[in-house]
This record gives sequence, C-alpha cells and structure tokens, in this order.
Amino acid sequence: MTVRVRIAPSPTGNLHIGTARTAVFNWLFARHHGGKFILRIEDTDLERSRPEYTENILTGLSWLGLNWDEGPYFQSQRLDLYKQAVEKLLEQGLAYRCYTTSEELEALREAQKARGEAPRYDNRHRNLTPEQEAAYKAEGRSFVIRFKIEDEREIVWNDLVRGTMSWRGSDLGGDMVIARASEEGTGQPLYNFVVVVDDIDMQITHIIRGEDHIANTAKQILLYEALGAKIPEFAHSPLILNMEGRKLSKRDGVTSISDFKQMGFTPEGLVNYMTLLGWSPPDSTQEIFTLEAAAKEFGFERVNKAGAKFDWAKLDWLNSQYIHNMPIDKLTDLVIPYWQEAGYKFDGGRERPWLEQLVTLISQSLTRLVDAVAISQLFFSDTVEFSDEASQQLKQEGSVAALKEILTVLENQPLSEAIAQDIIKQVVKAQNVKKGLVMRSLRAALTGDVHGPDLIQSWLLLNQIGLDKLRLNAAIAAAN
Ligand code: GLU
Repeated sequence: MTVRVRIAPSPTGNLHIGTARTAVFNWLFARHHGGKFILRIEDTDLERSRPEYTENILTGLSWLGLNWDEGPYFQSQRLDLYKQAVEKLLEQGLAYRCYTTSEELEALREAQKARGEAPRYDNRHRNLTPEQEAAYKAEGRSFVIRFKIEDEREIVWNDLVRGTMSWRGSDLGGDMVIARASEEGTGQPLYNFVVVVDDIDMQITHIIRGEDHIANTAKQILLYEALGAKIPEFAHSPLILNMEGRKLSKRDGVTSISDFKQMGFTPEGLVNYMTLLGWSPPDSTQEIFTLEAAAKEFGFERVNKAGAKFDWAKLDWLNSQYIHNMPIDKLTDLVIPYWQEAGYKFDGGRERPWLEQLVTLISQSLTRLVDAVAISQLFFSDTVEFSDEASQQLKQEGSVAALKEILTVLENQPLSEAIAQDIIKQVVKAQNVKKGLVMRSLRAALTGDVHGPDLIQSWLLLNQIGLDKLRLNAAIAAAN
C-alpha cells in the first residue's frame, strides 16, 4: 500500500498555524513512508472563500518547505463528482430530501431545549410519500439532502493517536445534512460529505487532522460505508494551546504563517518548532532538526494526546539557533527585505560586501530577523541622536580631547582593525587617560549610545561609508 495523505485547507483565511502544523504532520508521515502528500483546497463555501487566501496558503506551505506531490485540487472544480455521489445515495435510499423549514427546525430545537434534551433533527422527513413531497414542493419549500444515521449504530475506530474511539449514532444529531438547498436537484454539497467523496476519489489512506474533527470522523465513517469505500486510518493530532492551556486564538497574537514571517521567523526555525508541537523525537534532547531528519523518525506513537502549549520563548530560541548558524550570504539575503521595509537605503557605499560585514557584526545578536532593523539603524542614517547616557559620556573629563586626538591620528589613513586598535593605544598614551574612557567616548560619538555591537567592527563599517569623522566632529560639537 502506498501511503497517501492530504492537507485540505479552506481558503476562508490566511494559512493558520494550526493548519500548518497539521500539514507538517502529514508531510512527515508521507515522507517517512515514501508516500504522497496531496494538497486540496476546500473552496465549496463560495461566500467565504477568496483567491488571495488560496495564494497565501500555497505561498505559506512552500515557504515552510512543505512541498506537495499532487494538487492543488480545487473542490469548486469537482462539483460533478459530488453530485453523482449524492444521486447514488438518493437512489440507494440512504439519503433523502428534507423539506423541514428553518422555522420548524427552530420550534423543534426550542421544544427539545424545554425538555432538557440536546438539540437534534427528529428525522421527520425520512419516509415522505411521493404525494407529501409533491405537496411540499407545491408550497414552494426548498429542501436539503439528509443522510440517514441510525441511532443504534456504534461507530468504532482505532485512532492512531488516541486509541479506540467509540461513538453512538444517537450522539450525531439525527440524519445529517450533506447538501444544502440550491436550484439544482441535488443541492449544494457540504463539507462533511465532499471531504469523504474526495478522500475516496484521491485514495487517501490516512486522514491526519486536528482533534476538533473527531465528531466529523464518526459521521464520515458512516459515509464511507454508504459509498462502499474502504475506511482509511485516522490520526487526530492535539490542538495547539496558549500558555494558559486554552485554545490558541487571535488574542494570543498568533494567526497566520505570513504573520510569523513578518515577525522575523525563519521557515526552518518555525517549521522545526511546529514539529515539536505535539511530537517529540525518540531522542528528546535532540531539538534542532530539519524536516527531512524528523521524517526519518516520525510516527504517531510519539504524538501526544494532550494539547500542545505554544511557547514563544522556545520558538525564539530555536529561531535564534538557525539565524546564528546560517551562512552570512544567506542571512544577508533574508535580512535585506526587512531593511528595505524599514526604508533603509543602500547608497553611499552600502554595497553587498559592506552589507555582509554588517550582518556578520549583528548576526549573533539576532533572535528574529526583524531585530536587524533596530540594531543596524545607526549604520543607515547619517547622523545619530545621543542617548542620555551617551551625552553624559561625552561630557566626561577628557572625552572631547580624546575624540579630537582620534581625529588627528586618524587623518586620512585607511582604517583596519589593527590600525583602529593602534589609534586607541596612541590616544590613551598621548592624553594620559584610561582606555575605557577612550572606548566609551568613541562608542558614544560613533553610535550615539553606550552599548551595542562590537566597537571596532562598527567603526570600520562607518569608516567605509565615510561617516566616522562626521560623527566624531558632530559629537565634539555637541559636547561643547
Ligand atoms: N477544510 C477542512 C478544514 O480546513 C479540512 C478538514 C479535514 O482535514 O478533513 O478544517
């Protein structure tokens, strides 16, 4: 048997972290078994589906490295298939047209509520005679298609994550609607139905999805039977929770994969973190791995039943590991768009080698790529504003004299690391001051602050774009 799994997002929003994590598990399982990972866009909800969300989903999956082998298939292009399946169930008497109006359903629900019962459809139109149907039609009522669910039925499956699962037909709310009213005789097919028709047609062997779909699974198993298909394996992965243990929501500041990208996470760091959301490798001390490495080890025996807590600190840590170990040219490529977005200009000598040198300087201080914006601002503006501490530093006795001396010694000689060190030594000697004072004053003058990236390297960078002397002069002027 070839393993065939799928991710089936609805394009009613951007690619959500929960859907993306489900995609990760599907991808890992497919790769582990040398199987196929299929992408299906569930766009039957015409009102809420939008092409830009589809675009966001495809881009997000690709960005994370979750390449798919087949698709994207679009449900909106497969309506004939669903129609045929509805007809088949109608012909076999496994489904029927239900003309109950929304007012009647509402009254039914109210009565059930008054009796303290759970709301359910009472299957009242299950056995309409042709005359009754004709009468309802003549009244102008529209209909939905309902699939028969026997109350006595027991539905049992062995979930690959959760073990034996057992449901009773009576828990499923009565005969289920599989198609809504529409102009057409078979109506507009609904999620729980089309998903089964597609999974059968696409020969999906394992359905891997979030545990919020468990009740759907019970219903869908009955549909597999009715359509005469083999029932696939099911694996319901745990939900992603916030640190308080509640389902992760927009309020937690987490929404879509594109937001994570914008926040400066690397795809490798993010996807690595998502893999750990509910799964752990056999060697649980091993936390940094590629998708390919995780695929070698992946299996449902190591997927937790309990919800997975989303831990920002851990995500940040993992992300920083990827940034700190990335080749500088790649990191430069990744950082440039954030600088551009911040409006930084690459002029006045800020060319590729200079940019890479700057990235080398700041790389170990980055947790998220976007951190590069604030850290390197001083390299992209002509002037700097002095922090209070920097102003204090420049007012220290001997500070201005030291800066003047630096300018004198610097003259027009080209700067190198060795020369920079030498200049500082000379100034310490000539002015008879402590090295610390010279260094702190130089930092204050060049960067406007009293802490920041390596001083000598920062100086070299500023020197290359002709800003060091300007800033030394500006600092001297400001201190007087
Ligand atoms: N379109 C469904 C969703 O986005 C797919 C669920 C499934 O995997 O069956 O939740």
